[in-house]
Amino acid sequence: MLDVIIIGSGPAGLSAAVYAKRANLNVILIEKEYMGTGQIAYSSQVDNYLGLPKMSGYDLGETFRNHAEEFGVEFVEGEVTKLEHNNGYWTVSMLNEDEKTVHYETQTVVYATGSSHRLLGCTGEDTFQAKGVSYCAVCDGSFYKDKVTAVIGGGDTALNDALYLSELCETVYLIHRRDTFRGSVSALKKLEAKENVKIITNATVSEISGDKKVTSITLNDGTNLEVQGVFVAVGMIPQTALLKEFDVLDAQGYIIADETCATSAEGLYVAGDVRTKKLRQAITAAADGACAIQSVQEYLLTK
Ligand code: NAP
Repeated sequence: MLDVIIIGSGPAGLSAAVYAKRANLNVILIEKEYMGTGQIAYSSQVDNYLGLPKMSGYDLGETFRNHAEEFGVEFVEGEVTKLEHNNGYWTVSMLNEDEKTVHYETQTVVYATGSSHRLLGCTGEDTFQAKGVSYCAVCDGSFYKDKVTAVIGGGDTALNDALYLSELCETVYLIHRRDTFRGSVSALKKLEAKENVKIITNATVSEISGDKKVTSITLNDGTNLEVQGVFVAVGMIPQTALLKEFDVLDAQGYIIADETCATSAEGLYVAGDVRTKKLRQAITAAADGACAIQSVQEYLLTK
C-alpha cells in the first residue's frame, strides 16, 4: 500500500513529489506522457517564476522535473482510467504503455492533472503555438512590448488579458464572437476608455498566418489585421472527468478546495490549476504541491 499517488507531472505534481520524498512518504507519480510538465511548456519564456527568470516554459518544466528525479521520485507512465474509494483507501487504475490495466492501492491521492486551455480551432493555431499564439498574457505579454496583439474571447480572462496587454502593447484588438460580454462590466468600461484598445464584436478568427512567427489574423468577414501576438482566452477545460462521482467539483469542473488542498473526499487532495483558485500560475501550482503534501502528512498521522 502506497502512502500517496500523485497524478500529473506539471509544476503542482512535481512539487508535491519533491515534498513527498523529503517527507519519506512511499510515493509514485503517474503521468500521461514522459516530460509532459503541463501547460507551462506552452510558454515561450517565463519571467515570473521567482529565482528562475528568462527560461523557456519547456526548460523551466525540465528544471522542475530534474529536481524531482534527483530526489528519487518514481515516475510511472500511463493514463489513469478510474479512481475508487473503498474501506478508507484508494484504488487507482491505469492503462500502461502496453495497453494493460494496472491497479495501485494508496492511502491518499494528490490530483494535479491541470486544466487545458480551450483551443480556438482555427487554421494556423497549432502551427504558431509559442510562435505568436499564446494562452497566457501574464506569462507571455512582456514579449509583445510596443507590438500589436489580438485577444480572442469575451470572458473575464480575455478582458483582463486585454487590460494587461494594453499597458505594454502599441495596439490591442479585443475580438469577441458576440456583441455582449460575459466578463465584468467594469473591466469592459476600462477597456473602452483606452485609446490603444480596439474592440471588435460579432467576429471570429478564421485564420492565423505568418512565416516563422505570427504576422496577421483573418476574421470571418475577410478582414485582415496585422498582429504579432494572438492571445487565445476562450475558456479552460479542467481535467477532472474521473472525479465526477465523488461530488468534489464546482459547476465549471474545478476541484473544490482551499489552500489546504484537501477535498471533501477522505484522502483526496488537489494541487495546481485544477483547484478552485484565483491565480493559475506555475508558482501557485508549485505552492499547492507543498500544501497538499503537508495535508497528506497530517491525514496519515490520524490513521
Ligand atoms: P469564460 O468565462 O468561459 O469565457 C470564455 C469566452 O470565450 C466567452 O466569452 C466565450 O464566448 C468565448 N469563446 C468560447 N469558445 C469560443 C470560440 N471557439 N471562439 C470564440 N470565442 C469563444 O472563460 P474565462 O474568461 O477563462 O473565465 C473562466 C472563469 O474564471 C469565469 O468564471 C471567470 O469569471 C473567472 N475569471 C475571473 C477573473 C477575475 O478577475 N475575477 C479573471 C479571469 C477569470 P461566449 O461569451 O459567446 O460564450
